[in-house]
Amino acid sequence: MSLQISTEKETNSYLKNNGLPGEAVSAAQATSLLTDLASRSKSAAALKSYIDLHEKTIRVMFFKNCPWIMNIAFDAEAMAVMCNVDVTAYNKEAKTKGTLEVPLDLVLYHELGHAKQFLEDPAAFKRMEHDADTSGALKRDGYYANIENDNLKRHEWPICDDIQFPRRGSYTDFCPMGDFIKKKRANLNWNLVKNAVAQQALK
Ligand SMILES: [Zn+2]
Repeated sequence: MSLQISTEKETNSYLKNNGLPGEAVSAAQATSLLTDLASRSKSAAALKSYIDLHEKTIRVMFFKNCPWIMNIAFDAEAMAVMCNVDVTAYNKEAKTKGTLEVPLDLVLYHELGHAKQFLEDPAAFKRMEHDADTSGALKRDGYYANIENDNLKRHEWPICDDIQFPRRGSYTDFCPMGDFIKKKRANLNWNLVKNAVAQQALK
């Protein structure tokens, strides 16, 4: 199996070593979320299975008390999917504005969709970053339209259809994620975080 869920100890030392906020939660919760959605969605099951059967390893780290939900690619060899189980920061805004709340298992599988994009072709994944619309808000705010759109179409939307959950029309309008990210980006030098993480190879 190349989908590996980090223990709390591993996740905590990873967060600490990289100066990232947050606190690990139980690997058992991560495992049950992964298994449960896969049992209800054949698209989720296929995505999980793709990663499970791949020769490269994807580490999944679950944490809380951190405002970011993120996936991080290091290089051609390694990727970590870090998922914030405490999505209340997102859902709080969703409640205020009366939009849908993001289910945690869907958030996790969205991030796993990025892991699959990366495994399919790390070079293409880099190219999608490079080719992103540099004039648009998506790139400016630290994420990439090409990557997100591809991920929605091939991974997230099919899972939504399976579980009869409404698809978001675009990356930014599921909940007010665009506003949320803009606010958070003001306090975060995203490139510094990425570099710090990249230098700390996952062992
Ligand atoms: Zn994404």
